[in-house]
Amino acid sequence: MNYSGIGYDLHRLQPGRKLMIGGVEIPFDKGSLGHSDGDVLCHALCDALLGAASLGDIGSHFPDTDPKWKGASSLLFLQHARKLLSDRKMRVIHVDAVVICERPKLGPHFPAMRAALANALELASDHISLKAKTNEGCGEIGRGEAIACHAIATVGIH
Ligand code: MG
Repeated sequence: MNYSGIGYDLHRLQPGRKLMIGGVEIPFDKGSLGHSDGDVLCHALCDALLGAASLGDIGSHFPDTDPKWKGASSLLFLQHARKLLSDRKMRVIHVDAVVICERPKLGPHFPAMRAALANALELASDHISLKAKTNEGCGEIGRGEAIACHAIATVGIH
């Protein structure tokens, strides 16, 4: 039996912050505002993993009021979610995500992101699908004020 979960996240982009996506620092003049490192891809993936196991959401496991997670690498959230699944005899089979931002171009960074995610999820990188879209200039994302991500995870029982 396999289960699916979806995840979504959005962060504001501001000068003076690092832009972390999929556990990789992307050179850019703005970065994600957030309590942790603001990694929109990791956060959406984490919610997708938790959703597949009906384990609530990222905010219930990693509250942004907890100083422990201030500036934390969001790869830790993914590792923790994977452990929670593993405790329930569940394993990640496949993840797919689409990151939406106007700039920068993300495609060149996908190999590094997939490697980082593969390591955190203990999943072969060819089972990690990443896509990037612009928002065609529309809204906050189109104006470069925000970055968003949709993700889906498929998990199976051992
Ligand atoms: Mg987030």
